[in-house]
Amino acid sequence: MLAEIKGLNEECGIFGIWGHEDAARLTYYGLHSLQHRGQEGAGIVVAHNGSLSGHKGLGLVTDVFQSGTLDALKGAAAIGHVRYSTAGGGGYENVQPLLFRSQTGAMALAHNGNLTNAIELKLALEGQGSIFQTTSDTEVFAHLIRRSQAPTFVEQMKEALSQIEGAFAFLLLTEKALYAALDPHGFRPLSLGRLGSAYVVASETCAFDVIGATYEREVAPGELLIISREGVRSERFASRQPRSICSMEYIYFARPDSHVDGINVHTARKNLGKRLALEAPAEADIVTGVPDSSISVAIGYAEASGIPYELGLIKNRYVGRTFIQPSQALREQGVKMKLSPVRGVVAGKRVVMVDDSIVRGTTSRRIVSMLREAGAVEVHVRISAPPITHPCFYGIDTSSKEELIAANRTVEEIRRLIGADSLAFISQEGMLEAIGRPDVSPERGQCLACFTGQYPTRLGQTARPCLTMK
Ligand code: SF4
Repeated sequence: MLAEIKGLNEECGIFGIWGHEDAARLTYYGLHSLQHRGQEGAGIVVAHNGSLSGHKGLGLVTDVFQSGTLDALKGAAAIGHVRYSTAGGGGYENVQPLLFRSQTGAMALAHNGNLTNAIELKLALEGQGSIFQTTSDTEVFAHLIRRSQAPTFVEQMKEALSQIEGAFAFLLLTEKALYAALDPHGFRPLSLGRLGSAYVVASETCAFDVIGATYEREVAPGELLIISREGVRSERFASRQPRSICSMEYIYFARPDSHVDGINVHTARKNLGKRLALEAPAEADIVTGVPDSSISVAIGYAEASGIPYELGLIKNRYVGRTFIQPSQALREQGVKMKLSPVRGVVAGKRVVMVDDSIVRGTTSRRIVSMLREAGAVEVHVRISAPPITHPCFYGIDTSSKEELIAANRTVEEIRRLIGADSLAFISQEGMLEAIGRPDVSPERGQCLACFTGQYPTRLGQTARPCLTMK
C-alpha cells in the first residue's frame, strides 16, 4: 500500500528483550520485522555490566547496524526503536532510544505514540529549570521521572506515567530491569512474549515470530510491567479507560501476520474486503488491491463478490520508501517508481481497485490514471476505511484538516477528483464488525477519531496533530 505517499504515515515500532545473551542481535531482527512502522531512524541500547550503551542512526535498520556494530553491543537486555517522526521532527538527536545518565544511574527510553500534553508539561518543566536535549515528546517523560520525589524508581515511573496524556507505549531499560507501559486507553498495540527463559516485548507479534518467541499476552491499558531477574511483575499506574486501539493498525499499519489485541490482521483485512463487497458491489471483471495492505482486502472482496482476484498492480520492493523524499514533486515521482500496473491483466477490463484509505487524494488519482493508461476500461475504487475527516493526535501522520480531501468534499466530489467510475468507502459499522470488535464494551473499543472527530482523550491546549515536520 502506498499510504505513505498520500500523507498517512506510520508511527514507530519498539522492541525489548530481557534475559538473553544475544539481546542486541535479537533486537536487530525484531526491529527489522517492525521496519514498516518507521524508516527514518533506528537505535538499540543494551544493558551490560551495570551500564547502558547503544548505537543509533538515521535510515533503515540495515543501514544503521552492521555486524561489527552489533558485536560491540554486548549484554543480556536491550531495547530498540524504529522511528517515523510524528512530533518533534526528524534529526539524529530525536532518534531513539534516548539515553539519559545521571548520578542515580542511566536509563534508556523508547516510545511509540504521541503525547497530547507534551508542550504544556515541557513549558512547566522548563519553568522549573529542566533543559531539554531533543525536541521529542519522549524526553518529557524522562524529566518527569527524574523530578519525582517518590521513594522508589517504580513509584517515580508511575507518578510520571500518570501525568502524561495521549497515546504511548513505552519501553524503558535500566541496568536492573526492563519496563513496559501502555497508556490507559491502549491506542497502540504492545505484546509480551517468551523466548526460552527470556522475555520479549514488541509493538507487533510479527517480531516474536521472526526470532522464534512465543506470544504470552497483551500489555493491558494502564499497566506497567517490570521485567527483571525476579521475573515479570505487573502494576497499574492508572485506572483502565475504555479501550481505544487505533483502527488504522488493522486497516493499514500492522503487518498482516501480526495479531493486534488478539485479532489477526490479514483476517481482519479480508473481512473488510468481504464487507465492502456487500456494502458496495461493482459490475467488474477483476479485483485488484494496492500492495501491500490492500491485497488481503482485495482477496476478501473477490471471495464475497465472485469477481476474480488478479494481480493488477505490482510494487517494486527495491525502491526506498518515498515518504522520506522531501518535496511533493519527488513523492509523486516516487509513486511511479514504486508501483506499476500489470498491463496484460488490466487491459480491456473493468477493474475494482481496493485501497485502505484516501488522505489527500493525490495517490488515488495517480493509481486510477495509471490503470487507465494500462488499458483498464473502468476503474471502481473501494476503500476499506471510512472517510478520514479529522487529523490524528495520537501518533499517526494523517495530514492537516485542510489537506484531508474527505474533510471538505462529498464522496461524489472525491470520485470526480480521483477520476474513478465509482467510489465507495466502508461504513463505520461495517468496519467495526469486519475487524471483529463490533460491541462497544469498554475492553473492545476502537479509536475512530480521524473518522468522527470524537477524540477519546482531552486534547491539551497545546496538543498538536501528528503532522510531518518539514
Ligand atoms: S485518530 Fe485515527 S489514526 Fe489516530 S489513533 Fe485514532 S484511529 Fe488511529
